[in-house]
Amino acid sequence: MTTLIIKGARVLGGQPADLLLQDGRIAAVGERLSATGADVLDAGGLVALPGLVDLHTHLREPGREDAETVETGSRAAALGGYTAVHAMANTDPVADTAGVVEQVWRLGQQAGLVDVVPVGAVTVGLKGERLAELGAMADSAARVRVFSDDGHCVADPALMRRALEYVKAFDGVVAQHAEEPRLTVGAQMNEGDLSARLGLTGWPAAAEEAVIARDVLLAEHVGARLHVCHVSTAGSVEILRWAKSRGVRVTAEVTPHHLLLTEACAGSYDPVFKVNPPLRTDADVAAVRSGVADGTIDAVATDHAPHAVEDKESEWAQARPGMLGLEQALPVVVETLVEPGLLDWAGVADRMSVRPAAIGRLTGHGRPLVPGEPANLLLLDPAARAVVDPAALASRSRNSPYAGRELPGRVVATFLRGTATVLDGKAQK
Ligand SMILES: [Zn+2]
Repeated sequence: MTTLIIKGARVLGGQPADLLLQDGRIAAVGERLSATGADVLDAGGLVALPGLVDLHTHLREPGREDAETVETGSRAAALGGYTAVHAMANTDPVADTAGVVEQVWRLGQQAGLVDVVPVGAVTVGLKGERLAELGAMADSAARVRVFSDDGHCVADPALMRRALEYVKAFDGVVAQHAEEPRLTVGAQMNEGDLSARLGLTGWPAAAEEAVIARDVLLAEHVGARLHVCHVSTAGSVEILRWAKSRGVRVTAEVTPHHLLLTEACAGSYDPVFKVNPPLRTDADVAAVRSGVADGTIDAVATDHAPHAVEDKESEWAQARPGMLGLEQALPVVVETLVEPGLLDWAGVADRMSVRPAAIGRLTGHGRPLVPGEPANLLLLDPAARAVVDPAALASRSRNSPYAGRELPGRVVATFLRGTATVLDGKAQK
């Protein structure tokens, strides 16, 4: 294994320091470090953060390798500064058995760019009818701790209660895609004045908020851990704030696109902006930003959702919902939270690494950058700005909602257990 000295990086935005990486760990942090035979990387002006952890990635393998594979998605993740991603279960076949989650986990190990952590389905085939083999997935080599039917809501309250009871036994968490399906039949965008004007069926905020309210009550009753995926409305933030004040074991995430974009994007009828839950209003964007700032929302999670061209470049109503996120998540957080002064670098590390790792019960990620810890980290140039070019992305898909937009912050390097997966902004394999 190589020995590397990173010179003059600002750990969590603090004073410049050197970091010595050796045998996959951080061996020392200090001034003017040296080691015989060590490679040296000049990190002057760069911010060092713990490797990011995504709670919500769609890698599409097995089943839709034309849209993304574990390898291409892992490369996109590394380029975004991630060292671990949770791979959602809505693959084909669905990740609802020990066999499928172990397959995804192995593919991640083979790619070797990030730790791929499989999410197990809550119900068999994501059908919402009966519980999947949660215990077998937890006991598998993939050691699943996060369970989600994401893409679908576990809408049946009795089934949701049973899932919460079941995962409690092994300290798992149910990650809910909060969408009351009876309220979103045929929904195309946020319900409001704009949807009425555009003539598109609306997806009301209440369809999300009703499920979150129900689930925090169930989580409180059962005493189990609940995680809420992609929170998108001001009302959801209020419910979460209330639940946390009562001591409910609930955590929540918001996506980069819900931090930056609004329903106004739908006015273009460009399906790249179609997503579930939909882009909301300016007031919702302000509320989710302050929810992240005050910690009511624990994590920024990408909901990276690659789609093949034929599934996305069609009329709005026929297009599949979802957008890419891994490669631009950190720049969007810099733009929406850091530059406006809502979050400092320690806060970014907390919401994008420390808390997501804790929610997923990962060891070795989301750790402080101090001697003895695994060398999972990224180096960011906060002063760099770049215009997003979908053709240049590592993802196999091209459905980036940020195409043509200038965003701040460039990930210069990413290290997974001391090995560079990204150097000078380029993937190393
Ligand atoms: Zn979802």
